[in-house]
Amino acid sequence: MDYSKETDMIIDSKRGVDYQTANQPLYYSTAFLRPSLDSEEGYLYVRHANPNREKLEEKLARLEHGKFAFAFNSGMSAISAALMTFSPGDHIIMPDDMYGGTYQLVKTVLKRFGLHFTSVDQSNISNVTDAITDDTKAIYMETPSNPTLQVTDIRGIAEIAGPRGIKVIVDNTFMTPLGQNPLLLGADMAVHSATKFLSGHSDLIAGAVVVNDASISEQLQELQVAMGLGLGTYDCWMLNQHLKTLTLRWKQSTENTEKIYDFLKDHQSIAQVYYPAEDSVHMSQANHAGAVISFRLENEDKAQSFADQLNIPLISVSLGGVESILSHPKTSSHKDLPEDERVEKGITDGLFRLSVGIEDIEDLITDFGQALKNM
Ligand SMILES: *Cc1c(COP(=O)(O)O)cnc(C)c1O
Repeated sequence: MDYSKETDMIIDSKRGVDYQTANQPLYYSTAFLRPSLDSEEGYLYVRHANPNREKLEEKLARLEHGKFAFAFNSGMSAISAALMTFSPGDHIIMPDDMYGGTYQLVKTVLKRFGLHFTSVDQSNISNVTDAITDDTKAIYMETPSNPTLQVTDIRGIAEIAGPRGIKVIVDNTFMTPLGQNPLLLGADMAVHSATKFLSGHSDLIAGAVVVNDASISEQLQELQVAMGLGLGTYDCWMLNQHLKTLTLRWKQSTENTEKIYDFLKDHQSIAQVYYPAEDSVHMSQANHAGAVISFRLENEDKAQSFADQLNIPLISVSLGGVESILSHPKTSSHKDLPEDERVEKGITDGLFRLSVGIEDIEDLITDFGQALKNM
């Protein structure tokens, strides 16, 4: 938990008093005045550095146990910057069930800039080892993955990568820094879509990269400034506000999810539940199983009817909000996947992914119970 104060000084020259603010003010200014013509100190132009972004980045670094954090204008900007620290000819190993936006980024954009990608099922570490070539410069992972919560051994991959000079990047969006800290497990970069649990209110889009290495940090800063990928001032302020309740939100959401898991795993209308609570690799690298759970209906024809019966969860995409969000991967996030690949990954009609919010758990379980009964 982070107890650093966010007071700022306001100098009231009229009364000759200095005030401390309880909360960091929003500094809506694109430029900052220079104390002298040749001064190189302090803020100058908003894209380079500004007080709200700096405050947020300090907090993100502490949360993720890293030295340097960079706030980006989306999770995809953060992932783009992380991958653009590599150069043409470099080979990067990706997960075969990577987030859809990341798939689009590597397949259509970064490929044109000479980066090579191989995607493998990383839940089996030997697949990763087999994919390493002389040009391999990074292993990128998502654990647990979307939507079937497959687990990759972060320490195991870092042990293979380290001695070969291969960088390890972990998309830690699903676990948040409260649930899992990739940098402490040997990763070089932790990336986040802060649009999800970090902001938690389904109201802003943001991303982050946290690192320990000073030279990676310099590259990320250069990309953030040169490409204009930094998070906007208002959203920095807003995300900073939302982070103040992350601990409470995450605690309630994860406790709720454990109870929903207990409820769903023995339910006669549920064929399968995906949640890494009993996965020994996951539980050795994370504090708990998280707040995203997927499950398959026994009767796959009932998907629409089940969704129609539910009163509490929002039926939508995205995750990490204070409200529970139920997604149907087959018709949303994974609708462009070829049929055979989709079925092989378990993304069928009856599969739902639930991001569990902070609602009263009895209300949630009652709602799921009646929907499963009446569908
Ligand atoms: C949402 C998400 C992203 C992309 O983040 P945006 O903020 O939408 O750009 C990347 N990775 C994961 C795991 C996500 O859930």
